Parts: sequence; C-alpha cells; structure tokens
Amino acid sequence: MIEQLLPNMYKIEIPLPKNPLRVTNSYFIKGKERNLLIDTGFNQEECKVAMDQAIKELDISLENTDIFITHIHGDHSGLAGYLSRPENKVYTGGYTAKSLMGDKGATLETFYYDLLRESGLEGITLLDHPGYTYASDPLEKVNIVRDGEILEVGEIKLQCIETSGHAPDHFCLYDEEQEILYSGDHILGKITPNNTIWDTPSTITRDYLGEYLSTLDKIAALKIKTIYPAHRFIIENPYQRIEELKDHHGKRLENILEILGKESMTGAQVASKMKWDLTIKSWEDFPPAQKIFATGEALAHLTHLVFENVLTKELRDGIVYYSRA
Ligand SMILES: [Zn+2]
Ligand SMILES: [Zn+2]
Repeated sequence: MIEQLLPNMYKIEIPLPKNPLRVTNSYFIKGKERNLLIDTGFNQEECKVAMDQAIKELDISLENTDIFITHIHGDHSGLAGYLSRPENKVYTGGYTAKSLMGDKGATLETFYYDLLRESGLEGITLLDHPGYTYASDPLEKVNIVRDGEILEVGEIKLQCIETSGHAPDHFCLYDEEQEILYSGDHILGKITPNNTIWDTPSTITRDYLGEYLSTLDKIAALKIKTIYPAHRFIIENPYQRIEELKDHHGKRLENILEILGKESMTGAQVASKMKWDLTIKSWEDFPPAQKIFATGEALAHLTHLVFENVLTKELRDGIVYYSRA
C-alpha cells in the first residue's frame, strides 16, 4: 500500500509474511533530479512484488533513485542488492556496508553458534533467523555515511544521525527544516525495538543497550514534530514516546534483577522467565526465532547490568552465567 504523507514523500508498506512486525514502512522522497528510498523489506518474494508494484505505481526510475539503509536487519536491508543499479547509490553506516558487501561473517556466522551456546539456547540453527535467511544479495559498492553528514534530495536536506544500540550501527535521517525524523527501528510507535548483543556474551566489549539509551537522548535533544518509523504507525508525540521507551527498559532491568534474585542464570533461562507480549504463554512453545529474539533482549539487559557493575558474569563449560556482583 502506498500513501502520500507530504507533497514529495510517500510511505510504501512492504508486507513481511509470517513476521510479527507485519510490514516495513519504506519511505520514498521525490527530488528534482534524484530521489531517495529509505529501507526496503526482506529479500523475499512477497517483498519484491510489493516493491516492484510501488516502483510502477509511483513511476520510480531506479537509475535516479538512491537508497538509504538505516541498519543491517534484513527487513531494512534485504532488497538493497535487488534495487541497486550501476547508476544509483546505496547509503548506509560502516558496519552495515561491510555486511552488505558480502562480509556476512562480520554479522552472523562466525559468532552465531558461540552466541547460541554461551547463552544457553539449544536446538536452534542459523536458518531459524529470518535476518539471515532473507538477507540482501551482496553489493559491489556502498556509500558509507558519517554522523552529521547531510544528504540532499532536491530542496530537502537530511542529516544522518548515528543512533547505534539496536544494531552495531544504525542511522536516522533528520529533516531539520520540517522537524521530521525518519527513525528506522530506533524509535517505533506501540512496539519496542528489539535489542540484542552483537558479540558473544563472554567476549563482548560494547554495551549495546547503554548505547541505545544514550542515542535516544541524542534524538530527544533535536527539535522534532513527527517521527516516521520503519514499523507501525507515525509518531506525533516524539518526546513522550522516547520517555516511554526509556521507561520500558528501566522496568525490564528491574524485572531481570528480580528474576535473578540470588541465583546464577544463563541468558536463555532469564529470557524464559521474562514477560513477553506474545499470545504464546509457554517458553517451550515459542517458535525458534522468538526464542532467539527474547534471549537477545535478555542478554542486552544482562550485559548492560554487567557494564554498570550490578551483575557479574562467569563462563563455565562454554556457557555464560550471570549473577549479582
Ligand atoms: Zn532492526
Ligand atoms: Zn525492523
């Protein structure tokens, strides 16, 4: 479905079949000579069909349309390879660029099985991860953007704002003049962006949740009227939504400390006892992909608490256990 939101801007809904996110909102900004398309959907037939139809309906020439990828997740970067042409540019951050140019090892394979084992998750394979299954075809060239850099689309100036945390790199696009933010997965309405860790629990050197919370503050310091997120509805109360997200993570941190009590637990054990907004109630019945996301979420919070010196972690027989410091 296509909806015109501003004189030169359209939202294209790309369906994500059998995915609880339902759709990716891709945004198309029409310029004078060149246009910009923000995020793409999975590298999956249904997404391609929806994108092809939008390209036809909006009479988009891909040669004149550059592509901006907010972050590496497949529901954003999946069709980058499919939509790239020798004449257009694909803009994204350094980590995402490296992954899109075929270095999947940087994101998944090399650490993935160690990550599953160390977090205490059993019986799950790489193929259970939709981000891996529907990842983009490799790209030959990508234009790396930096924090503060301005992209011009006709009269519109979009500032690239580095907002890491949800992914090792994530960029929002800020239109200062119109007080608009294209937020990718950094800020979503109603649902909370999934956080995880991107290293193995034993070797991790970055506090991704800590980065996420501080880049929320970075966005809160901007003058914004409307946020256009990559999933669900448009956000008209940006500052309230940012506070809600911070509050959500604060409660989750408290809940994890309660779950741990005086015990020592793995990431998966903590995840199995946390409250999830899913219709499936028993952890055993969670589909593999949901177990991965839930455990990732638990690990992001556990790791943050280790960085804050509230918890300690210990590697025993290849599995990482967390307990009170
Ligand atoms: Zn994402
Ligand atoms: Zn997403």
